[in-house]
Amino acid sequence: MSTKPNGRRVLVSGNWKMNHTHYEAIQVVQKLAALLRAGPLPEGTDLSLHPSFTSLRSVQTALESDSVPIALGAQTCHFQDAGAYTGEVSAEMLAKLSVRYVIVGHSERRALFGETDEVVRLKLDAVLRHGMIPILCVGETLEQREAGAAEETVAKQLTAALEERGREAFASIVVAYEPIWAIGTGRTASAEDAQAMSSMIRGELERLGGEVSRLMLVQYGGSVTPDNAAELLACADVDGLLVGGASLDADKLVTIARSSA
Ligand code: PEP
Repeated sequence: MSTKPNGRRVLVSGNWKMNHTHYEAIQVVQKLAALLRAGPLPEGTDLSLHPSFTSLRSVQTALESDSVPIALGAQTCHFQDAGAYTGEVSAEMLAKLSVRYVIVGHSERRALFGETDEVVRLKLDAVLRHGMIPILCVGETLEQREAGAAEETVAKQLTAALEERGREAFASIVVAYEPIWAIGTGRTASAEDAQAMSSMIRGELERLGGEVSRLMLVQYGGSVTPDNAAELLACADVDGLLVGGASLDADKLVTIARSSA
């Protein structure tokens, strides 16, 4: 039974970033399907897969045709429903593809594509408007951590995205704490640091959203591997994992998702 003692479920999400062509994506999904047929995930654990836009339709079909117990996710979206935004994909388009989770405000989007707190908030609105669940990423840089500003940075990101939001929205948002210095670097936050920051995030969520925020999931992300997943998931306030590099491999992703047992 992997539901946390607090009753929250566990959500493991694989963020493929700009990896896997749609052919490769189908192969990985077939392997994931075989692994999950051979042994289901622990009770109370959910798995989501976030392929690139070009693979979404193929992955959706592969998951649905085989009834694979994996939710479809996307990595970002535009905040407008339609219009002259060359190259962009709207939340409405994702919803029509049966996408359930959309990552919003990933640090790579913030740093490389200029996504401000204001844009992140608009994207969150769009995902909620179309009935999907945003995975809101927050996290500090190494400089901010070393300057003792990790908590303040994350609190500011949470406030910008969530203040003055209706209570019902809080039950439909997942937060991913992703220290930027741990993403793709092989350097994971210690379980103590992950727990301390998740607990602080939980306090902020309660301040912003009240009682309902107790239902919200807080994931940890940053160089998660099959070797460190169990220790991270054992933290009282870590309700799941957002996994980049290791999620490209079906065996590793399933091993990580089984670590909540
Ligand atoms: C991520 O993409 O959100 C991430 C945490 O990547 P990695 O697991 O590769 O550090």
